[in-house]
Amino acid sequence: MKVALIAHDGKKAELVTFVLQNKDLFSGVTLVATSTTGAYLESAGMVVEKVLSGPKGGDAQIAAMVATQQLDIVFFFRDPLGKHPHEPDVQMLMRICDVHNIPLATNPAAAILMLSALHE
Ligand code: PGA
Repeated sequence: MKVALIAHDGKKAELVTFVLQNKDLFSGVTLVATSTTGAYLESAGMVVEKVLSGPKGGDAQIAAMVATQQLDIVFFFRDPLGKHPHEPDVQMLMRICDVHNIPLATNPAAAILMLSALHE
C-alpha cells in the first residue's frame, strides 16, 4: 500500500498531527510526499519518500504516479483559504485521481474514513 501525503503550508501542521495521531494505521504503508510536507513528516519521525516541492512540480510528480498505478490513495490537505501559484497543478492532480479512480481525501475527516477502510 502506497499513500501520497501533500499539504499546503496552512495545513502542514494539521497533516503532521493527523499522521501522528493515526500512526498505527499508517504502519506497513509506504508514504510518498511533496518535499516540504515530507520534511515536516520526517521531523516528526516518519519515514517518507520525497518528490519535488509542490510548486516546483511535486504535485505533477504525484499525479504521474497516480496515472501509472503507483499510488493507492492520495491525501491532499488543501488550504481553501490560501492562494497558490501552482493551482493548475493542484487541479490537475485532483483530475488525474478522478480519471484513474484513485481515492483522494482533501481534509482529515475524509482521510480518516479512508484510512480506517484500509484496515477493514
Ligand atoms: P510542499 O508542496 O509539500 O513542497 O510544500 C505542497 C503543495 O503546496 O503542493
